[in-house]
Amino acid sequence: MVVIMKPGFSRQELDRAIRAMEDGGVKVMISRGAETTILGAEGNASGIDIEKMQSLPGVERVMRVSEPYKKVNRKYHPDDTVVEIAPGVTVGGKKLAVIAGPCSVESEAQITAIAREVKESGATALRGGAFKPRTSPYAFQGMGYSGLDLLEKARMATGLPIVTEIMSTDDIGYFAEHVDVIQVGARNMQNFDLLKRLGKVDKPILLKRGLSATIEEWLMSAEYILSGGNERVIFCVSEARTFESYTRNTLDLSAVLAVKKQSHLPVVVDPSHASGQAWMVERLSLAAVAAGCDGLIVEVHNDPQHALCDGQQSITPTQFTALMTKVGQIAACVDRTV
Ligand code: PEP
Ligand code: MN
Repeated sequence: MVVIMKPGFSRQELDRAIRAMEDGGVKVMISRGAETTILGAEGNASGIDIEKMQSLPGVERVMRVSEPYKKVNRKYHPDDTVVEIAPGVTVGGKKLAVIAGPCSVESEAQITAIAREVKESGATALRGGAFKPRTSPYAFQGMGYSGLDLLEKARMATGLPIVTEIMSTDDIGYFAEHVDVIQVGARNMQNFDLLKRLGKVDKPILLKRGLSATIEEWLMSAEYILSGGNERVIFCVSEARTFESYTRNTLDLSAVLAVKKQSHLPVVVDPSHASGQAWMVERLSLAAVAAGCDGLIVEVHNDPQHALCDGQQSITPTQFTALMTKVGQIAACVDRTV
């Protein structure tokens, strides 16, 4: 349930409305916008008498909110959230964020060279996996902690914030100290222990959509993080599993519009994992920008043919430069910049 206060309500009217809600058995969240103040009920609002609530002085309107996600919900927070990922570096707002880098960190030379090249082309942040969720236990599993060290070196060399995936709750303390954005991969979107623990971390979380998760399930996963106190969540539309086998997965661009409508949190798109094909990445990126995303996360490798992971979907630094120019052109059409 949300209660919208009338413009110019008094302090006493606000207190009375809050008390009426609390008496109904809920916790009240107050959202003060420039023009509108909204009271959100957290918990079961069935004990609140809507008609009585509606008749209170200072109350403009009372609405039942059927969605189970509250803190993530745009109804409580009409303005777009801009997530700061490093001092002065943001995701959300007018400027698109473009996160680029290899699927996996492979060596110091590899990650630093790619970091320098994507930075030169205007990337916002560097991606690179050190702990990899691989289908096969025999496939490259990532460099682990030494990979994180190399990401930090690349950050030092370029100033780019680093984005990398977490797999285990055991690593949360280390990630919170050493990483700028903690990625929750598609396979862990409903790892509720991980989500709860990340709710207590003071670092932004890039939350990918699970391969077969509904929009509501995805929003509820973000709700776990926000309800724990961490309000810096960035959604990432990545691979969806469908009947199609021509592409590795499917890019569901309608999810960008759905999540932007339902939530105030920023949404970025990963065309690399969605298509699994390097030649599709540029066009899908442009489509994602046209659809209104807040940024992209793109796999870039300086030697895709010999990449230890996801080479077939990685574009080269030269292709990334071209992509950035075109992204800038489409961005201008939708009133964004890069
Ligand atoms: C990745 O970003 O490299 C990755 C494995 O992500 P996803 O969870 O989308 O598969
Ligand atoms: Mn990958």
